[in-house]
Amino acid sequence: MGEFDLIRRFFQRPVAAGAPAGVEVGIEVGVGDDCAVLVPTPGARWLVSSDMLVEGRHFLSTVDPARLGHKALAVNLSDLAACGATPRGFTLALALPRADEAWLAGFSRGLLALADASGCPLVGGDTTQGPLNLCITVFGEAPPGRALLRSGARVGDEIWVSGRLGDARLALEVFRGTVVLDGAGFEAVRAAMECPTPRLALGQALRGIATAAIDISDGLLGDLGHILAASGVGACIELDALPRSATLAAQTAAWQRACLLAGGDDYELVFTAPPGVRLPDVGVLLTRVGRIEAEPGLRVVDARGEAVAHGLRSFDHFAS
Ligand code: ADP
Ligand code: MG
Repeated sequence: MGEFDLIRRFFQRPVAAGAPAGVEVGIEVGVGDDCAVLVPTPGARWLVSSDMLVEGRHFLSTVDPARLGHKALAVNLSDLAACGATPRGFTLALALPRADEAWLAGFSRGLLALADASGCPLVGGDTTQGPLNLCITVFGEAPPGRALLRSGARVGDEIWVSGRLGDARLALEVFRGTVVLDGAGFEAVRAAMECPTPRLALGQALRGIATAAIDISDGLLGDLGHILAASGVGACIELDALPRSATLAAQTAAWQRACLLAGGDDYELVFTAPPGVRLPDVGVLLTRVGRIEAEPGLRVVDARGEAVAHGLRSFDHFAS
């Protein structure tokens, strides 16, 4: 199987896939020419984001290829979700050690299933031989002035998170051998790590409601910290209010703190909104976890309002 057979077999599909029928918006030219040709909604803004996944750093070599395909796209769609964007398409730059058909079939199945479910067709990419490395760029749209940014949080806003935090980190600790779980508990947290759900519907529904938003990829402390820095504010969050699974709630207090505050790989949204505003119901759990304050910095308190000393920080690829 040569490079072009590989692209045709696993990544090229009819142009209409994912484009809304009869709508003048979508993909005019997809995989197969030198460029893809996309048709934007008149007046809309493009929102563009890239995320790279490197073997050994972002995933284990033993991961199920269908789950890896799903996750590679999911982490990118999560950035569109954080900005309230509607997905329009994506490109895939892929380095593969060899053309393993079973692996490619699984990978493209997981990848394209999420692409279909999200209305986000694969429109192009690049394929090369080399150490396993995946880079996706997603293209989305939002009406002018409506993208959710990190910079809009105001003193007095409430802080909300979607879903439950910390399970992906807990799964990583099981792989590392530092935590032991039973079979059912492990499968649940493993799915959180390998198969995250990008909160696209929530992000779009929060346009005009949330004042700031970000997706939690490196841990709540660091990612909420980006909102605080961009908005020039501080915050207080309540540790006991942070939403967690029954599996995580059964762990020691120290592991719960580490996974909830600095876990990473959650791909939930953390956003701010004025108190009393009506939040959208898109079938995703929303939990109020704190408040934006004028005093700079991020304080973590317990249910009685007393400071929690945690000594944690978020993941940073180049931190020494
Ligand atoms: P070029 O040489 O012009 O850069 P390529 O030979 O790399 O083009 O790719 C041929 C076509 O296949 C292009 O349309 C490109 O976007 C597409 N393509 C290459 N690799 C992938 C991939 N991994 N996924 C989707 N499309 C791809
Ligand atoms: Mg070319």
